[in-house]
Amino acid sequence: MKKALLTGITGQDGYYLTRLLIDKGYEVHGTIRRTSSINTFRLDPLISKYQPDGILNLHYSDLLDSSSLELLINQIEPDEVYNLAAQSHVSVSFKNPIYTTQTATLGSISILEAIRNSNKDVKFYQASSSEMYGGDSKELLNEQSLFNPKSPYAASKVFAHNITKIYRESYDIFSVNGILFNHESPYRGETFVTRKITRALGRIACGLQSKVTLGNLDASRDWGFAGDYVKGMWMMLNHEKADDWVLATGETHTVKDFLKIAFEYLSLNYEEFVETSDKYYRPNEVEHLLGDSTKARKQLGWKPEVEFEQLVHMMVDFDLNLAKREKLLIDEGYLKPTWENFIS
Ligand code: NDP
Ligand code: GDP
Repeated sequence: MKKALLTGITGQDGYYLTRLLIDKGYEVHGTIRRTSSINTFRLDPLISKYQPDGILNLHYSDLLDSSSLELLINQIEPDEVYNLAAQSHVSVSFKNPIYTTQTATLGSISILEAIRNSNKDVKFYQASSSEMYGGDSKELLNEQSLFNPKSPYAASKVFAHNITKIYRESYDIFSVNGILFNHESPYRGETFVTRKITRALGRIACGLQSKVTLGNLDASRDWGFAGDYVKGMWMMLNHEKADDWVLATGETHTVKDFLKIAFEYLSLNYEEFVETSDKYYRPNEVEHLLGDSTKARKQLGWKPEVEFEQLVHMMVDFDLNLAKREKLLIDEGYLKPTWENFIS
C-alpha cells in the first residue's frame, strides 16, 4: 500500500486530495496544527470513516517546526509528500508578510532537507501558484513565462518554487512544482472572492443578509474546480520524470462575470446587492491571470472536467443549502445572525 503525507490536509485541496488518494488505495497521513477551535470540518466525514482502520492518520505539526516534519518523514516513510500548507490568502499576506513568508519558505526547504537526509526515494509536490506571474498583461502564461510577484505571498511561493527545482537538479530528488491557477469549490475558504460571493448570495436569497461588499470587480482569474486540480497533482508525482507543470482552464473571467452568473442563477441582479469598498482593495493587484496548460494536457493527460458556469452553479447550490440550514437554526433561536464579518 502506497503512503502519502500531506501538509495542509485541513484546507480545500487537502480535502479533495485525501479523497482521491484514499480512492486510489493509499494510506494517507496529514499534518494538522493545534488550534483553539477544532478546524477539521472539511475532513470530518473522512475521519470517522477511515481513521479507525488507519487509512487516514492525522499528526500534529507546523511548517515552522522543521523537527516535526523530519520526524514524520522518518517515521511514516511516505512514498509521496504533497506540500499544500500555506498562509494562502494574498490580501492577508500584506498584513502578515513575515509569517506568510516564513511558512512558505521554511516549510518547503525543511521538507526537502528531511527528504534529502532520509536517503529514501520520497517524491515531493510543491503547491506553486499562478500569483507568481504577477498578471500584468493579458498573455497566456505557461511554464516558460517570467515571474513578477506582486505580494509577499507570491514572492514566498517563488522561493519555494525555485528551491524545489534546485533540489531536483542538485540531488536528483523527484520534486515537482504544480503551478496551479485559481481553483475553487464549495470547500473554498470563505474569504476568497468566489466563495465570499456564493456564501453571501445564499444568505441574501434566504433573507439573512442584504448586501455584500467587495473590492476590485474588474480583476480576472482563470478559475477551475479544485477536484480536477488535485488529480493533476497526483499525475505529476506519478509521471516518469519530475518537472514543473501549469494547471489551468485556459479561460479567464472577471469578478463581475462570476457575480452575474451566480446571481442570475437565483434570478437576481447582482448590481442591487453588491457594493465596493477600499477595504477590499489590495496595495498591489494582480489584474489578470490566464493559464496555458498544454504541457500538462499533453504529457500527463490532464484536463479540467468542470466548466466555469457549472462551477459557479455548484458553489451557489451548496451555499444556498447551507444558508437554508442556517436560517432554520436562527429561526429556532440556536444561532445568532452574523454577516459582513469577513476580514479580507
Ligand atoms: P487553504 O487555505 O484552504 O489551506 C491551507 C492549509 O495550510 C490549511 O490546511 C492550513 O491549516 C495549512 N497551514 C497554514 N499555515 C500552516 C502552518 N504554518 N503549518 C502547517 N499548516 C499550515 O489552501 P488551498 O487548499 O486552497 O491551497 C492549497 C495550496 O495550494 C496552498 O499552498 C495554496 O497557496 C496553493 N495554491 C492554491 C490555489 C487555489 O486557487 N486554491 C492556487 C495556487 C496555489 P489550518 O486549517 O490549520 O489553517
Ligand atoms: P487570489 O487570486 O489568490 O488573490 O484569490 P482571491 O479570491 O482572494 O481574489 C481574486 C481576485 O478577486 C483578486 O483580484 C481580488 O482583488 C478580487 N477581489 C475583489 N473583491 C474581493 C474581496 O472582497 N475579497 C477577495 N478575497 N478578493 C476580492
